[in-house]
Amino acid sequence: MVVQKFGGTSVADPDAVRRLIEIVRAARARDGRGPVVVVSALSGVTDALLTVAAEADAARVDEALAHVARLRDRHLAMARALAGGEPLAALTAHIDAQFDELTAVVRALAVLREVSPRTLDVIAAVGELLSSRIVAAALAHAGIPGEWVDARRAIITSDDYTRAAPLGRETTAALRATVLPLVDAGRVPVLGGFVGATADGHTTTLGRGGSDYSGAIVGAGVGAAEIHIWTDVDGMLTADPRIIPAPRLVPRLSFAEAAELAYFGAKVLHPSTIHPAVERNIPVRILNARKPDGAGTLVTAEPDPDGTGLAAMAAKRDLTVVDITSSRMLMAYGFLRRVFEVFERYRTAVDVVTTSEVSVSVTVDDRRHLDAIVEALSEFAEVSVEGEMALLCAVGDRLRTEPAIAARVVSVLEEVPLRMISQAASRRNITVILRQADLPQAMHRLHEEFFG
Ligand code: ADP
Ligand code: ASP
Ligand code: MG
Repeated sequence: MVVQKFGGTSVADPDAVRRLIEIVRAARARDGRGPVVVVSALSGVTDALLTVAAEADAARVDEALAHVARLRDRHLAMARALAGGEPLAALTAHIDAQFDELTAVVRALAVLREVSPRTLDVIAAVGELLSSRIVAAALAHAGIPGEWVDARRAIITSDDYTRAAPLGRETTAALRATVLPLVDAGRVPVLGGFVGATADGHTTTLGRGGSDYSGAIVGAGVGAAEIHIWTDVDGMLTADPRIIPAPRLVPRLSFAEAAELAYFGAKVLHPSTIHPAVERNIPVRILNARKPDGAGTLVTAEPDPDGTGLAAMAAKRDLTVVDITSSRMLMAYGFLRRVFEVFERYRTAVDVVTTSEVSVSVTVDDRRHLDAIVEALSEFAEVSVEGEMALLCAVGDRLRTEPAIAARVVSVLEEVPLRMISQAASRRNITVILRQADLPQAMHRLHEEFFG
């Protein structure tokens, strides 16, 4: 049995859902049971819901309610195109109830002018809660016994609203209680991704792009044979197709390579997706829902036996470099600890770190607490900040064993001013920090050298 996760574009409109239905039908015919289906919100809906929240916060009630009305119409139209009869009546009643509730929330927020992260999650979760109901009904209408499962009863998380972490034991128990009995009864459970709830029932979300993570959590929890991530590209590509026009498909990746690519910006996988798969050693496939017969990318524990050079590259924009220089000339014992304590205090992750005798440079992409961080660091160091930086990361298991590959990466970038260069202990990536304006040029050079 497999878990199949479908992203926003794979449930964007009735035709996309019809393709999804045939993919599910084929998996069921192949495996004789399942699959378990995890879906994102219809494409663009999470952004629209967050806009609604922002408008309510700014007391722009009319704009917010106009958005809610458009979302209601889009979901009702989907339902009518994909279901019929009594189930359609039940589905439209659910959709209407959900949007009536959202309307009430918007009005209340506009009065209170106070949108907390907890409220934001209640609003953001509507997208996946509705798309999953629609897909479950559409499957049933197409003769496949789809059954909606409330993700808030299946994925139990911490109370870090807007970026909640799943609680392993509780979630496994919940998935076994809600999802497995349906599979055993020959049904196809359908859950919304991205969404969970705390143990006491408050709605949470796993962070933007988190439906992939949900797919992997469900896969690990129910002991799936494989986790399939269905999206709008052929698989993991050698570079971001929005920057490199014709990247190649990467046929195989190790878990470690996939985790580094996702972490360093390959949007096709949410950065946490691989962890549950690693724990249970479950292969992950990334597949194109428009071309279901494509081979996609297979991610497993073992490195690609046929691999040469690099596996792929990834990039992140909008980074800030913080240079921290010890005011006592030398980096005294304890200096680094004090530096990282500041980042920890403000719960701000650093991506890349380089050090010299007297200074340390770090990159951050979450600028929310930057001013406070700089102020705290300034108590014991000189601090300077540079924005509009980017990170370019070349990933490949072979970097560990073939030093010539790292040399090629650096030499092909010789005409690009590099701000930081780093190779972490895993030695599976070479990461450079450069001006954002130089990123496209650097990516083209690197891509041409290794995949041209
Ligand atoms: P979904 O809605 O299916 O989760 P996403 O938009 O989150 O889809 O992720 C797929 C997108 O990731 C692709 O359309 C592509 O633009 C982008 N992307 C960035 N880097 C890569 C990469 N290395 N390989 C494949 N896709 C990538
Ligand atoms: N719908 C959510 C988002 O847009 C989660 C996802 O699609 O993975 O971030
Ligand atoms: Mg995604």
